[in-house]
Amino acid sequence: MKCKKCGEKTRTKETTDVQSYKYRRRECVSCGSRFSTREYSVEEIRQIETQRYDERLEVAKAEIRELRRFQEAIESIALGGRLQL
Ligand SMILES: [Zn+2]
Repeated sequence: MKCKKCGEKTRTKETTDVQSYKYRRRECVSCGSRFSTREYSVEEIRQIETQRYDERLEVAKAEIRELRRFQEAIESIALGGRLQL
């Protein structure tokens, strides 16, 4: 993996198995910059992406339900003659 600051090679200083991924501490061989990475399998990344998509979808559905309630309230007021549209 390339250094985020200078683009040179990095080396792994430490690898730790954490549940379903590997956590790696890396260090640039040129500038000494340090950063961390997590290594997931492609299947695990797909599961995470699907879960996040489902969560965003539920938020969007809740927003649509709220807008429909707002629209119904506005129409109800308009039909009652208390609001001129
Ligand atoms: Zn560097």
